[in-house]
Amino acid sequence: MSDPVFKRITRLVGKAIGDFGLIRDRDRILVALSGGKDSWTLLYALRYFQRKAPVDYELAAVTIDPGTGSFNCGPLAARLARDEIPYEIIRGSILEVVNDNLSAGTNPCSFCARLRRGMLYSFAAREGWNKIALGHHLDDFVETLVLNLFFSGSIKGMSPYLLADDGKNTVIRPLVYVKEEMTRHYAGIMGLPILGCSCTYQGLTSYRRRWVKQLLTQIEKDVPGVKSNLLAAMKRIHPRHLLAGEPARDHEEESSPAKG
Ligand code: SF4
Repeated sequence: MSDPVFKRITRLVGKAIGDFGLIRDRDRILVALSGGKDSWTLLYALRYFQRKAPVDYELAAVTIDPGTGSFNCGPLAARLARDEIPYEIIRGSILEVVNDNLSAGTNPCSFCARLRRGMLYSFAAREGWNKIALGHHLDDFVETLVLNLFFSGSIKGMSPYLLADDGKNTVIRPLVYVKEEMTRHYAGIMGLPILGCSCTYQGLTSYRRRWVKQLLTQIEKDVPGVKSNLLAAMKRIHPRHLLAGEPARDHEEESSPAKG
């Protein structure tokens, strides 16, 4: 497709694949397809490279049906069948588990996401998919970094290439350089069927995350490119100029504010 935004998306995804070594020959990559704009964009970007790139890899999509009763993967399955992309649906009773075990103060969607990730990891390990591709984009990376800075007191974000804690799954996030507005545009022009959770908790994203998103949007009006700068900062880490490294020498502190 010749859409200029999709061209930019594939250029950025290609850069991420190269920078972080995300894909290797004979990989079997499972794309977690929620039915949202980001996972759709990820799937078609990886499909593009599957056809163009010199490496040979297998690709399929998977959706976790949370068991809400009204969740309907039909439109997704129809679209993927049309485009000849292999597709699996994992059915669970996640919502029941969420309702039965939700403790006070826990966001149901965060709890649900952890449960779904567990199901996804088990499925991938059992079926021999060696990489799971998730649709987190640049805005997600930066918002997570700022959330942890503000609310957890740690410099921690997400990694584009991560060996999961169970040691069995490798997670890749090829949209690391892609802005959310690009995935919105792409899903719109492609007429992709966007699927919501069809759950009573839908829209209940964490207040803090929404606040950080709005804050960054506001800051970007005064500091264009602030999100890209924050993402770049995740690569350029200087531990000796934080509290975690060896002591720095005097002349290395020139950017510190004058005191006394
Ligand atoms: S709305 Fe939240 S709790 Fe409900 S299925 Fe979606 S992610 Fe899970």
